[in-house]
Amino acid sequence: MFDPSIKYGILGLARSGISAANKIKELGGKAFLSEKQSRESIPEADELIKYHECEFGGHTDRLLDCPIWIVSPGIPLNTPIIQKGLVHGIQMISEIEFGFQIKYPDSKIIAITGSNGKSTTASLIHHILQVLGQKSILAGNIGDAFCSYPIHKPGIDYIVLEISSFQLDLIQTFAPHVAVLTNITPDHLNRYRDFEEYCQSKMKIFSNQEEHDYAVLYQDSSEIAQRIDTIRSQKLTFSLTDDHADGYRKGKFLYVNNDKISIYDLKLMGPHNQLNVLAAALSVTALGFGTSETLQACKSFHSLPHRLEFVENINGVSFFNDSKATNTDSSKSALESFDRPIRIIMGGSDKGEDFSLLTETLQRHAIKAYIIGESKDKMRQAWLGKLPLAFFDDFRECIRTAYEESTIGDYIVLSPACASFDLFKNFEHRGDTFKDIVREILREKEQA
Ligand code: ADP
Repeated sequence: MFDPSIKYGILGLARSGISAANKIKELGGKAFLSEKQSRESIPEADELIKYHECEFGGHTDRLLDCPIWIVSPGIPLNTPIIQKGLVHGIQMISEIEFGFQIKYPDSKIIAITGSNGKSTTASLIHHILQVLGQKSILAGNIGDAFCSYPIHKPGIDYIVLEISSFQLDLIQTFAPHVAVLTNITPDHLNRYRDFEEYCQSKMKIFSNQEEHDYAVLYQDSSEIAQRIDTIRSQKLTFSLTDDHADGYRKGKFLYVNNDKISIYDLKLMGPHNQLNVLAAALSVTALGFGTSETLQACKSFHSLPHRLEFVENINGVSFFNDSKATNTDSSKSALESFDRPIRIIMGGSDKGEDFSLLTETLQRHAIKAYIIGESKDKMRQAWLGKLPLAFFDDFRECIRTAYEESTIGDYIVLSPACASFDLFKNFEHRGDTFKDIVREILREKEQA
């Protein structure tokens, strides 16, 4: 628990590290801030040095004076300074754990993790709670950091947290009242020893829950099904195939606790988003809200930017931006969301995934794949001779070629199955660049 007499070490000065440092100061404690990058590359540096002891350009042994370190999710645990800290008996926690330790006890936490669907499910839960008139905040991996909110004070009914596996790796006592696991499929295999270690990390979301808490689980996932017995809290399951689950799809309806909603009343596309709706509705009803009001509130939720976001229709060709699809499973969802085969733009920085997992889905749901980025050669090896492919060095040329080869009624979807760091700052930058190029094509066609 928070101890103002302790000096906390903060490793990594991105969003979560900065907000934890500022919260420690607000609570009357002390922090030592340590950042690998130079002072010039941290925009907040001038402000931070006014209030905190800081070091930039590397982590030094000064950190060893701090018995607890709050470690940024961006720092792999095999980094030498972390290994050294562990040898010295330093306690390592994530900002999520720290926030949990200091939060006002009455605010209830709904935490969402999973390989895909976290942001959509978390945003939908937050949306429903707001429609139901609750004071809810949405934090963690989405929007602002957990500690940037006045979480130590009364006044917040619900804290909806999107949580990555990296944040879960460093929890100790974190115990959400409702914990959602949307799915587990291969991702971040460049950071984990193997898939098993990644699965264990995701399951940690349930590790401190008690019998009065809830676990909301995707039943169709064999990875989840085989680990379900390790969960102590009350289990609520959702499925697209089994009408014995607590939330399920049958025909064109989604059913939750004997109430139903038509999938045509939703503004979200695709079976994966129906799962997100089931998970969100089960989570809110677990908090004690009525099913009918909960499902009603789902109807007014729109898809988030960069997740199967409709961009433009140019001469009968529709463009969709799914830049947030940064692993193979999320691109699989995109491919399965349209009523006919699509032209898909793929590629980016490789996270160690096996692209052949997508071969069959591509064969069924893609007219052609237009490939760009660092993963190009690996994708070529996986798919050459199995479906029509084209390779590019230039993103603009890639999008333009897909358009030129299209006929009326075609869909062109950016759904890369890779992270974006080879050519772009982040997935938002990639999606925004895609939208700019599409609108450039639109202007040209309007003028022609
Ligand atoms: P996350 O925050 O886990 O990355 P998002 O809600 O931002 O998840 O969605 C990211 C991408 O994953 C989307 O573009 C979509 O293609 C895919 N996706 C969303 N929800 C699911 C789901 N439940 N199962 C599989 N894929 C999904």
